Amino acid sequence: MIEFDIRPSGHLVPDAERGAMLTSPGFGQIFTDHMITARWSADRGWHDARLEPYGPFTLDPATAVLHYSQEFFEGLKAYRQDNGSIAMFRPDANAARFNTSARRMAMPELPEETFIRALELLVAQDREWVPSGAGNSLYLRPFMIATQPGLGVNHPSNQYLFCVIASPAASYFSGGANGIKPVTVWLSQDYTRAAPGGTGGVKTGGNYAAAFVAQRQAVERGCDQVVWLDAAEHRWVEEMGGMNLFFVRGAQITTPPLTGTLLPGITRDSLLKLAPDLGVKAAEEPISIEQWQAQCASGELTEVFACGTAAVITPVGRVKGESAEWAVADGEPGPVTMRLREELIGIQYGLIPDPFGWVHIVC
Ligand SMILES: *Cc1c(COP(=O)(O)O)cnc(C)c1O
Repeated sequence: MIEFDIRPSGHLVPDAERGAMLTSPGFGQIFTDHMITARWSADRGWHDARLEPYGPFTLDPATAVLHYSQEFFEGLKAYRQDNGSIAMFRPDANAARFNTSARRMAMPELPEETFIRALELLVAQDREWVPSGAGNSLYLRPFMIATQPGLGVNHPSNQYLFCVIASPAASYFSGGANGIKPVTVWLSQDYTRAAPGGTGGVKTGGNYAAAFVAQRQAVERGCDQVVWLDAAEHRWVEEMGGMNLFFVRGAQITTPPLTGTLLPGITRDSLLKLAPDLGVKAAEEPISIEQWQAQCASGELTEVFACGTAAVITPVGRVKGESAEWAVADGEPGPVTMRLREELIGIQYGLIPDPFGWVHIVC
């Protein structure tokens, strides 16, 4: 087990200032007092693991990540529980996905217990930064970057930096009468997020860099988010922005199968596992945009929602494409969407028992 050297900050944000920041944290704008770093090199493996004050890096301008985007990240949350303790949700699943990303990006794996230990140390050290209040949490962002200086492109970096930062967060997309506002989505036929054999199935920054232009197009068309379609036919639905999609037909939910071009969301996986306990049948099944439109017209498709760690569950109310536009049912959040959301949030915040062993108490 890699040991972390604990070097607490001598300049903590004063209580009153932190309290003011936590009243409306937003998303990804403010950061806690500390961070985790660890270094990897070909000759030493993982070394210099530490908890240290949050602060900027100094990087040589020729550093590999700045040129060739050899990097990947994770995202998960720590929640203040009803009983006052603080817990993370399924960090073991993030640890496993972290290493799937590492292998695809030709980067070193981090032992799962070291990944989880890093998160535990940071959350415990900065526990005063975990906001209370419905929907609030501490968002954790582990990532790894290639740090070898040099512009050669024929082999991966021989040095890497692992880092974890933490950001108090309110859930985004929230708002509206019952705190949850349906989004309008844009079917992106000009741009592709991921192709077979590419990196769509792992959490690497390049997938996001390539998506901004499509997101801007969505906003120009009066939409909130992009829905990505398959690269070959531009017909088969993959996912929405940084979230997975679910389609509801009465008491049944389906989500597109993991073909390698969409991200295997942990929220997606959690919903597939908890739905049957609520009497909702769950399956992985492809859906085309023609089927989406026709099944909304016939009334077969009763709800559509997106899911992910940051925004939990967001209903999709309207769909726009180059040649068609339609509403999903009455465009309002549906009962299955709201029931699944309540159940998942209930488990994450310790409001209801966790039959799956997903809640990982930190302190
Ligand atoms: C992170 C991510 C998701 C959601 O994954 P969760 O583990 O549920 O947060 C979905 N799609 C993309 C592209 C992502 O990067």
